[in-house]
Amino acid sequence: MRIGTGWDIHRLVENRPLMIGGVHIPHHLGESGHSDGDVLIHAIVDAILGAAALGDIGTHFPPSDQRWKDVSSMELLRLVMDKISDWEVVNIDTTVILEKPKLGPFIKSIRDSIAETMLIPVDRISVKAKTAENLLDDVGSGKAIIAQASVLLKAIPTESEEYLDEWV
Ligand code: MG
Repeated sequence: MRIGTGWDIHRLVENRPLMIGGVHIPHHLGESGHSDGDVLIHAIVDAILGAAALGDIGTHFPPSDQRWKDVSSMELLRLVMDKISDWEVVNIDTTVILEKPKLGPFIKSIRDSIAETMLIPVDRISVKAKTAENLLDDVGSGKAIIAQASVLLKAIPTESEEYLDEWV
């Protein structure tokens, strides 16, 4: 088993879509960023890469590389899943911290969207939403969004290990 954590923050600006877990949330502001700015997916990608000790999102998808400009973060998540094909994702737990809008009505769609992209059952994915209680920082005043993620990976046994297990 291996555990990983991820954290990300993006500014909220005009003329950008608010993408959370691959779902477009109706709002007058969206995440700034080189890709589509999907803060939740960036935190999940970093947690997966961290658990596998494979670096971070910036080393795999550098903003200096034009290939990743405006790319859907779900595509980055798909590419990262290919890099951890020796591992099974046991579960993912996440928190999104956002003043507005309320994410409650979108949580189910967000979990489904992540499950479909990662090709894992939706009951392994948890998405929680909190506000910053209107505190006087950039998240509390609605100018930024934060996401945190924890991921547990389990090594997929090789065929020879499975064979040994039967006889031990
Ligand atoms: Mg990011």
